[in-house]
Amino acid sequence: MALDVAGSLEPREVIARILERGIHVVQADRATLSSLSDDHVVVEATHGRAGELTWVGQRYSLDYFAGQPLVQKAIETRQPTFGGGLASERAAPEFRQAIRDVRHVAVIPLVHGGKAIGMLVLSRYEDRPFTNDDLAALTLLGAISGLALRNARLYEEGEAARKRADQTAARLRAAVEAAEDVASQVQLDQVLGRLLERAVASVGADGASVARLEGTDMVLESTTSGAAVGTRWPIAPKVLAGVKNGKSVELTAAEYTGAPEGLESIVQPFRRFLVAPLAIGGETIGLLAMGRRKDEPFDPAAVQSLQQLSTLGALLLRNARLIAQAQDAERAKSEFMSIAVHELRAPLTVTGGYLAMALDGGFGELPEPLKAVLQTAQRKTEEAKALADELLTVARLEGRALKPSMGLFLVTDVVQEALVRGRPRAELIKGTLKADIADDIEVQADRTLVGKILDNLINNALIYSDHPPKVRVTARRDGDQVAITIVDDGIGISPLDQGRIFGRFARGTDRRVLDKPGTGLGLYLSRGLAEQMGGSLQLESSRPGKGSTFALRLPVAAA
Ligand code: ADP
Repeated sequence: MALDVAGSLEPREVIARILERGIHVVQADRATLSSLSDDHVVVEATHGRAGELTWVGQRYSLDYFAGQPLVQKAIETRQPTFGGGLASERAAPEFRQAIRDVRHVAVIPLVHGGKAIGMLVLSRYEDRPFTNDDLAALTLLGAISGLALRNARLYEEGEAARKRADQTAARLRAAVEAAEDVASQVQLDQVLGRLLERAVASVGADGASVARLEGTDMVLESTTSGAAVGTRWPIAPKVLAGVKNGKSVELTAAEYTGAPEGLESIVQPFRRFLVAPLAIGGETIGLLAMGRRKDEPFDPAAVQSLQQLSTLGALLLRNARLIAQAQDAERAKSEFMSIAVHELRAPLTVTGGYLAMALDGGFGELPEPLKAVLQTAQRKTEEAKALADELLTVARLEGRALKPSMGLFLVTDVVQEALVRGRPRAELIKGTLKADIADDIEVQADRTLVGKILDNLINNALIYSDHPPKVRVTARRDGDQVAITIVDDGIGISPLDQGRIFGRFARGTDRRVLDKPGTGLGLYLSRGLAEQMGGSLQLESSRPGKGSTFALRLPVAAA
């Protein structure tokens, strides 16, 4: 019997066996089993003689036994107790009918560790009392059943613990995956958005936000709804207190009613909140808040997995802050450059005007030596103005203030115009400059900007040569782009320089380059402008002593 009852670890299986054994051992008509704990009793199941088993699962307070002295005695003495029936009028209404038919009962406490953890009630409908002959068997049944029931419960708890551990492991795995996923995003707002998505999924929330802390205020960096990003709010006192301890804080909606005006639309849909601090190096730099529509507390495993994500969130937020600072600095620098260059350019224009007037005889005939000096001054002023213009374009490009005005035009036209502008310089150094363009290709770009880029490339091709240069401009279709190439037979570019000439203020390292005037801005600007128009600029090939080929690609006009 002992082996039979204890032969399973499944609580229901164990209960069913205890009931069945109980009926058999003393020839009872009905057996009912209840579990006992400190303050309540659960009637688990009842078994009739014909073999019918009913799961009850009803829970009652322990006072339920107050009117049943037989039961009380059995629990107190931890011994089987016999009697002539239970007090039906004191029983719960649903049991009254069944109890009324009972003539004799045996109440067997199921004992474990000196305590009754359950109770088996055996009933007989016929007038055959339980006797001392039944006592030994029932005492044994009580002890073994107590043990079996206890083991089954322990096993059940163990299973539940294992399941929880599995869940925690799965959550940790999810956190690692989330970290990888989130870190693979390049755009900061996308990174934060992804973090929130992951956090919402892993703690079972309905919405979330991430905010950075500034004193006792928070500034929303990202929200799942996209609302209120960039707004600033005072932090609820309870959150502030919890965050100081580096702990997550759970709040009900009522505790959030301190939410300031304007934040209601974000707070209102939710009944419960979980707010985790984002800390780095002991400093709390932000908050990760989760909202739940239902008024159900977050379970501890969820709180733990939020902890993992908040570490990641803290790192991202710090990076966000650094990037924002860098962007601010970059913007401030571009603005400063625009203003400075503007201020420089104005007096240069005035000076240039007076010099031109003087050289034109506007102030009377000039002595030759003075004329020569003023001509040099005029050339230098023009150079300074050109530099100022270049710097201004750099500032506008970098400050994203430069918007190309796109139009449709023929490549041949814009190239011919550039050749006309470049020819005087080519002739001065006895070089040749020609175009070799087979068919008419229409492009979509900013005509003035394309002209500037071509001027730059053609000038370089003419300048960087130690003999009268031969420069050729060609154009061909290349997919949905046109590739305009500027080919020269000049000094070429060393492999080392090839990697840096598109940089800002970058000039070649060759002596023959440094002997010529230049700012190192031409290629940097030209590439930036090409990209602004949806095109590109590349050094296609170059060999020292043999020459270079640059290729400007622009989008072909849609047919
Ligand atoms: P800059 O001409 O004012 O130096 P650029 O940005 O136009 O500035 O050019 C950067 C550098 O690239 C030059 O200093 C030179 O070393 C190299 N370079 C550009 N074009 C050529 C060319 N056609 N042949 C040889 N070197 C070139």
